[in-house]
Amino acid sequence: MAGSSDVIVVGGGLVGSAVAYGLAREGASVTILDEGDVAFRASRGNFGLVWVQGKGDGMPDYASWTRRSKDLYSGFAEGMLEHNGRDIELKQEGGLELCLGEESFRENEEEIRRMHNQPGVGENDRRMIDADEVRRIMPFVGPEVTGASFSPHDGHVNPLYLLRSLHAAAQQLGVRYVSGARTLSIAKDGDGFRAETGAGTFRGGKLVIAAGIANKWLAPMVGLDIPVKPNRGHILITERMQPIMPMLLVNARQTADGTINFGNSHEDAGYDTSINPTKLGEIARNVVRYFPILKNARIVRTWSALRVMAPDGFPIYRESETAPGAFSISCHSGVTLAAAHALDLAPTILKGGFNERFAAFSSERFHVSPAA
Ligand SMILES: Cc1cc2nc3c(=O)[nH]c(=O)nc-3n(C[C@H](O)[C@H](O)[C@H](O)COP(=O)(O)OP(=O)(O)OC[C@H]3O[C@@H](n4cnc5c(N)ncnc54)[C@H](O)[C@@H]3O)c2cc1C
Repeated sequence: MAGSSDVIVVGGGLVGSAVAYGLAREGASVTILDEGDVAFRASRGNFGLVWVQGKGDGMPDYASWTRRSKDLYSGFAEGMLEHNGRDIELKQEGGLELCLGEESFRENEEEIRRMHNQPGVGENDRRMIDADEVRRIMPFVGPEVTGASFSPHDGHVNPLYLLRSLHAAAQQLGVRYVSGARTLSIAKDGDGFRAETGAGTFRGGKLVIAAGIANKWLAPMVGLDIPVKPNRGHILITERMQPIMPMLLVNARQTADGTINFGNSHEDAGYDTSINPTKLGEIARNVVRYFPILKNARIVRTWSALRVMAPDGFPIYRESETAPGAFSISCHSGVTLAAAHALDLAPTILKGGFNERFAAFSSERFHVSPAA
């Protein structure tokens, strides 16, 4: 046996690391088993938004859960610093979804109305602002911009620092991080669980499956059905520029060092993480409509990565009924939800009542009975 702990977490990306850190804060001994650099990893290729507006259209619990994570974020960032984490460059100064043309303005307006009318959605303070107000905030926007929706709760972090900080803080709290531990099988073992990996066999009292898109094939081994699939996104980075983006956008942000990061593409490309030049052209042309000043900006870097996507785009949180003590956690906004995963979801794993508390996020929602 290569190791034994209160909880085994399979996957050391943003989700597994946030949960492991939260479990360790509660005093649990935790081992993270991570495949390593060869794995598909959304956590190393994302955009860094802690984004609230627009989250939960169709699932009010997701809207309030996202808002909860946002509210927990500054304490979460400070907590990691106390445990040897690093500054994650958290900024929560609000964000904009710019509208191009009248139709896009009306669509955003309608989305706000629809979300507001959902019972139990909580308040996200999102409102429409007109083109003049947008130009006062963002003098460099182009003539096609007709307005924006604004929420004071949107923010961003440096996503790589977030992952590093989680790893450092978790390890300071005693979490054991085993890299090169591709988990090949997981199974109930007496009153706990056993994981067979490339780095040996590990045992834990509880098991958290947080391996991103690999949850799809790992979770059924303990009686869970997690129908996630990959969704490819591209990101482009410009050279450093003068300050042109005083506020964060859903599809572009200027970092502290002056580069503009942009992209918000969604493609069904299977497990292919290569760059699609046609998609890059589309994204670049689009951003120039928002900011004509970017027309001659040089692109210095680009990449693609795979999101972890449920059929309806919402998180899936589930404890196995046939193997209680085994949990599967999947979501497509692991940066945004990191604070809630660490400070709320992880303690619930230890306390019990997971499926009741997170009933709205259960994978049962995808199971339609033949009678229905
Ligand atoms: C282009 C792009 C932009 C994004 N932008 C944002 C954003 O702005 N804001 C936001 O909130 N979210 C964003 N996301 C989503 C966010 O990155 C993901 O929700 C998050 O990274 C998911 O984390 P994860 O740990 O579930 O999965 P992953 O990051 O994929 O990590 C999975 C981990 O599991 C390990 N693993 C896999 N299989 C095994 C196995 N068999 N055994 C052991 N370990 C295994 C891997 O090594 C990896 O470390 C974006 C994603 C993409 C692709």
